[in-house]
Amino acid sequence: MVVRTRTEKTVAERTIIMMKLGWIGTGVMGAAMARNLMAAGYPMTVYNRTKSKTDALVAAGATWAATPAEVAQNSDVVFTMVGFPRDVEQVYFGDDGIFSGLPAGKTVIDMTTSQPKLAAKIADYATKNGWQALDAPVSGGDVGAKNATLTIMVGGADATYDAMLPLFNVLGHKVNHFGAAGTGQHAKMANQIMIAGTMTGLTEMLLYTKAAGLDPEKVLATLSSGGADNWSMDNYVPRILKDDYTPGFFARHFLKDLRIALSEADAMGLDLVATAQAKRLYEVMVDVRGLGDQGTQGLINIYD
Ligand code: NAP
Repeated sequence: MVVRTRTEKTVAERTIIMMKLGWIGTGVMGAAMARNLMAAGYPMTVYNRTKSKTDALVAAGATWAATPAEVAQNSDVVFTMVGFPRDVEQVYFGDDGIFSGLPAGKTVIDMTTSQPKLAAKIADYATKNGWQALDAPVSGGDVGAKNATLTIMVGGADATYDAMLPLFNVLGHKVNHFGAAGTGQHAKMANQIMIAGTMTGLTEMLLYTKAAGLDPEKVLATLSSGGADNWSMDNYVPRILKDDYTPGFFARHFLKDLRIALSEADAMGLDLVATAQAKRLYEVMVDVRGLGDQGTQGLINIYD
């Protein structure tokens, strides 16, 4: 058996450490993830629609690029972590988009939660033009992005996945490859269907707890060590108890995810009634009450 110290690296790891990385979309998640890759030693070029959101990364040593195309020209691997599928379309296929400036042989990795069919479109275009593409959405929230403890769900070619795994291992502690392009996004939709249940569950659990006159802190501590324990409850109930509705995870992004999940389910002939009900509740929060910039824990604010 060969025993390696943590400072020794395999040939693959040494090769990848030479790679120049690009990051497009430096919001809540992207900024923290790019920072973790920089801390691991990778040179980084960054771009974000609102330039000021790259300031801290540039101060830490990243290079600013004026367009996605310029990021692509300066990088071996380009990550994208933007908001909505329309943003993904724009950064890949728009004027000055990644594909307008990407010489062959490079790799693009979309970590945005987006549509499986858009991931397949990106991979198809990439393959036909001599590039590699992966879809790699994440779970684990703002806390997971900061602490590099994300769960990463990957779709795309085996060889590309194997080559990029050392980079994913910097960002998260659980990385799984599900198959062809788009399967990472499908796995993320499965995750969001589950989260629909945990978010509505923790909201109504808290309403019930208060109506019954129980101490919510004590109930949380009790449920956390029993069969009702889940990540959403552990991370978001303490924020609600402090009246903290800052994102975390924007409610408008979660509504986007529920719409994608239900559209995909519909195409599969599935009627996910509980997820559809969660989507209606988030529509009230985002579209009716205008609370889409709150974190998902703000759902409780629609129960007057
Ligand atoms: P965010 O804070 O809104 O970050 C998205 C960033 O992308 C923003 O800085 C935005 O710039 C930038 N952007 C959007 N369109 C762009 C474009 N066309 N060109 C350049 N930059 C563009 O959102 P986030 O919380 O980081 O989430 C990012 C993605 O991860 C979403 O798809 C979300 O569903 C998913 N996700 C989030 C979490 C979470 O807990 N936050 C967890 C898992 C997955 P502006 O500042 O100009 O808007």
